[in-house]
Amino acid sequence: MQSNSLIESDRNHLIHPVSAYRAHEKRGATILTRGDGMYLTDSEGHRLLDAFAGLWCVNIGYGQESVVAAAAEQMRQLPYATGYFSFASEPTIRLAERLAELSPPGLNRVYFTLGGSDAVDSAIRFITHYFNATGRPTKKHMIALDKGYHGSSSNGAGITGLPAFHRQFDLPRFWQHHIPAPYPYRSPVGDDPRAVIDLSVAQLRAKVEEIGAENVAAFFAEPVQGSAGVIVPPRGWLKAIRETCRELDILFVVDEVITGFGRTGPLFACETEGVSPDLMTIAKGLTAGYAPMGAVLMSEDVYAGIADGPDNHLPIGHGFTYSGHPVSAAVALEVLSLYLQGGILANGQARAPQLLAGLQALGDHPLVGDIRAAGMLAGLELVRDKAGKTRFDPATQISDRLTTAGYRNGIIFRAFADGTIGLAPALSCTEAEMDILLTRLRQTLDEVV
Ligand code: PMP
Repeated sequence: MQSNSLIESDRNHLIHPVSAYRAHEKRGATILTRGDGMYLTDSEGHRLLDAFAGLWCVNIGYGQESVVAAAAEQMRQLPYATGYFSFASEPTIRLAERLAELSPPGLNRVYFTLGGSDAVDSAIRFITHYFNATGRPTKKHMIALDKGYHGSSSNGAGITGLPAFHRQFDLPRFWQHHIPAPYPYRSPVGDDPRAVIDLSVAQLRAKVEEIGAENVAAFFAEPVQGSAGVIVPPRGWLKAIRETCRELDILFVVDEVITGFGRTGPLFACETEGVSPDLMTIAKGLTAGYAPMGAVLMSEDVYAGIADGPDNHLPIGHGFTYSGHPVSAAVALEVLSLYLQGGILANGQARAPQLLAGLQALGDHPLVGDIRAAGMLAGLELVRDKAGKTRFDPATQISDRLTTAGYRNGIIFRAFADGTIGLAPALSCTEAEMDILLTRLRQTLDEVV
C-alpha cells in the first residue's frame, strides 16, 4: 500500500487519544517502516535518529539479531504456555529467577504482565489484597506524586498525577491522592537539595496525617519522573522517602518502568541510593520493546501476606492470558544478556557524560531554562523568559513546532505539552551517533527561537 493510502486508512480506523483524536486525523500519522541501530525510516524514506528509544523502551537499539533469533526459536518450540493456572515454561521461570537475583535485595517474587500499566494495576490489587488478608482492611488509600505517570489502567491512571489522564475519566477516585513533585527548578523552597527533600518528606507526612496512617496502604513513585518532563529529584530523596514510608507503616512502591534496565546508569535506579522498595514495577527495557512484557516484584513479606490469607484456599481472581508469555520471556533473557554480557549497560554509562556535556553546552541558548539528566534520561525545559522561568503559552504551540522542526532535521525526541524536550537514546548509542544527536538538537532549537 502507498503511504498516502496508509495515512488515509489510519485516519479512518485507528484511534489516537494522546494525540487528540481529531488533531491527529488532521495532521496524519508518520508511518514507520524500518528500524536499524539508532535509526528509524518512515514511509516517505526519511531516516530519523531516534533520540527517544521508541517510547523510552528500545534501550538496545533496533535490529538486534540475537533477540530476533531467541524469539523465533521460542515460537518454534513453544509459542504459548498459560501462567493462569499451575502451568509454567522454562524461559518464564529462568527470567523470574534472574530478576530476583538482579533486583534490589528482598524483591524475590515476580508476577508477569504485558506492560507497565498492568504491572502497576497488579501492584495495586496485590496491595489491597495484602491489607485485607492481614487484617488491616482500612488501609486502602494510595498516595503518589503530582506529574507522576503510572499507566493507563483505571487504577494506574488514577494515581497518575497528570490532568490529561483524569479529565473525562472521572479520576482520581476517593482513595487516590497526590502530593507535590520534588521539582528543584520550580520548588517553592528553591533548588537547595536538602530543602527540597525536607519539604517533600513533610508533604508526605502531612498527607498521611490528613488521611490517617491506619487508612494509607502505599506510596508510589518513579525514581526519576519520566512523563512529568524528566524531573530528577535531588540525590537522597528516594532514601528519605523510603525511610519515611517505613516509619509511617505504609508500603513503598517504586515504579521503574522507565528507569529500569540501565536508563539512569545502574540496572535499577533504586541502586543509586541503596534503596529496596516493598514492591517494584518494571516493563519497557525488560524486553527493550521487542515483545510486550512487564512485571511486579514484591518482597517475601508482602507475598506471604497475600499467599497465607484466610480465604486463600479459594481461587484468587487475578490473572492474564499472556502473563509470563514464553516468547516475551525468551526475548527478555536475551535482552538481559545484551545489557550485561554484551556491554550495552556499560556503553550507556560511558555515553551519559557526553549527553550531559552536550546539553550543558546548550545552557546559553535563549530557550533553555533547565537542564536535567540522570544517565541516559534527560530533559530540557524550554521557557519564554529565563529570568522569570515563564512557560510558553500555550506551551503546546512550542511542542508542535519542536516536533516538526525535529522531523525536518532528522531527529525524533519527545516534546512534552509543557514545552520540555525529553531525551532517552538507546544505551547502545555510539560516540559519533551521540554527536549527531546533539548537533541535530541544537539545529532544531535554533529553528524554533
Ligand atoms: N509507569 C511508568 C513510570 C511509565 O513511564 C509507563 C509508560 N510510559 C507506565 C507505567 C505504563 O506502561 P505501559 O505503557 O507499558 O502500560
